[in-house]
Amino acid sequence: MSRLIDGKAVAAELRARVAEAVAVLADRDISPGLATVLVGEDPASRVYVRNKIRMCAEVGIRSIEHAPDAGISQAALLDLVGRLNADPEVDGILVQLPLPAGIDASRITEAIDPLKDVDGFHTTNAGRLSAGLEAMVPCTPAGCMILLRSVCPDPKGLRAVVVGRSNIVGKPVAQLLLAAHCTVTIAHSRTVDLDARCREADILIAAVGRAEMIRGGWIGPGATVIDVGINRIEGKDGKGVLVGDVEFEAAKEVAGAITPVPGGVGPMTIACLLRNTVIAACRRRGMDVPEAIPPA
Ligand code: NDP
Repeated sequence: MSRLIDGKAVAAELRARVAEAVAVLADRDISPGLATVLVGEDPASRVYVRNKIRMCAEVGIRSIEHAPDAGISQAALLDLVGRLNADPEVDGILVQLPLPAGIDASRITEAIDPLKDVDGFHTTNAGRLSAGLEAMVPCTPAGCMILLRSVCPDPKGLRAVVVGRSNIVGKPVAQLLLAAHCTVTIAHSRTVDLDARCREADILIAAVGRAEMIRGGWIGPGATVIDVGINRIEGKDGKGVLVGDVEFEAAKEVAGAITPVPGGVGPMTIACLLRNTVIAACRRRGMDVPEAIPPA
């Protein structure tokens, strides 16, 4: 029976640390501000942005809300991003994805000042991360690392397997594990003998998007398992339930520590957005980041 990694508790602790850092900055008359850009009426996006704004308020981060309608042109959206880049009151810019058809999300992401890119999606930040330079780290991968460190403070030398190679989760989390001196394997849909690769892992990060694809029997005894996947399936009573990419009930009997879904990685993502906003506020001013903010 493994140790459960409580993402809600770790995220609450991180938010408390962010609030502490915000208070340190307030003593220097700095009030970090996050600009949110929500385009159109997508219900899920509205909920996400509302939650982000609420969490900002809880830790003392200012929100600057922009909600253009779905018909906004790409040129007008680029113009808005340009104004936010130039605005000294704005430390971080979050453009909620997905964007309506007709707007090239990568053009918008690339238009954000990398220093204000609190999602960490800009290719400058991706490149800097892979070059081992100071970068804005994407929120979910940062959350995975903070969860990992909560049970394994120094993963140096351990074998890490990341299943998934997306630009927003798999690749950056692999870079972070490499920076933490793990020996990293990145697996994906063409990987041969995926079960054997997973069994070799001391640390297994699942970021696939396929319900319970990673079976309990694929987990090495004592491994730390971080399950990023969020999949909605039909439960026994016919109602929708959320499950991860890992077969949790079987895996928890073998793993050393494991994140549940929900209540694992999910709560960390917004907490890391708040963390990134504080980091952006400091770096833009050439200041050290307060000690309360943990590394990714
Ligand atoms: P993507 O769809 O962008 O990437 C999925 C990756 O999984 C790809 O690299 C793909 O490989 C790989 N893959 C697909 N099928 C298989 C297979 N059968 N065997 C091995 N690898 C496979 O997803 P994301 O990275 O964006 O997200 C992954 C999951 O994490 C999703 O469930 C998503 O909802 C969740 N998520 C959760 C977040 C949170 O806050 N907790 C935030 C972001 C994502 P290939 O490259 O070869 O196609």
